[in-house]
Amino acid sequence: MNFYNRLVLHPKDIDHTPASRTVLMTFLHEQKFLSDSWHYQGQDYHLIGDRFLSQIMFMGCAPSIEFEPDEDSELPANFVAIRVPEFLSQTVFIPGKDEFHYRCPSCKKTAAIIERQAVTVDSSFQCQYCAKNFFFHRCNWRHFAGLGKCFIEVMGIFPQEAIPSSSLLEQLKEFSGVGWDYFYISNV
Ligand SMILES: [Zn+2]
Repeated sequence: MNFYNRLVLHPKDIDHTPASRTVLMTFLHEQKFLSDSWHYQGQDYHLIGDRFLSQIMFMGCAPSIEFEPDEDSELPANFVAIRVPEFLSQTVFIPGKDEFHYRCPSCKKTAAIIERQAVTVDSSFQCQYCAKNFFFHRCNWRHFAGLGKCFIEVMGIFPQEAIPSSSLLEQLKEFSGVGWDYFYISNV
């Protein structure tokens, strides 16, 4: 099991949250995206719901993932579960890796490490080579980093292993009134 690797969905509007976490959880239950709550090593997760496999598209021809924890043994390496953290009070930028480098779109050089940090729509950073400034929320992070206050995490997914279906993104948009995006957190 490798819960460090995960697929993370979030509203494109970086300051947006649904009315409450409870409202979001009810919606995800209704959509059968997730099912029973499940506690593991002091953390609250949910097992996947009946429609999860039509909402998250695995890129391999036959995904070898496990959804049911076995009480008696260690979790299998390919176990998948869902976590919806409490909404954050402040918007954060989350790099998909601990050592996250950004390739400057202007001079193409690989800039310094960008760390997790609180941001607003006015937050920017500067390329140390060409001195150009970039707004965090306007950068194309190419699904390797994300911003927001509200996140839905699918634990146990490697980068590019799976993506949200267009219908799931559409349902989330109808539910929340804003578009949704996704990125990967990984240690690979
Ligand atoms: Zn540059």
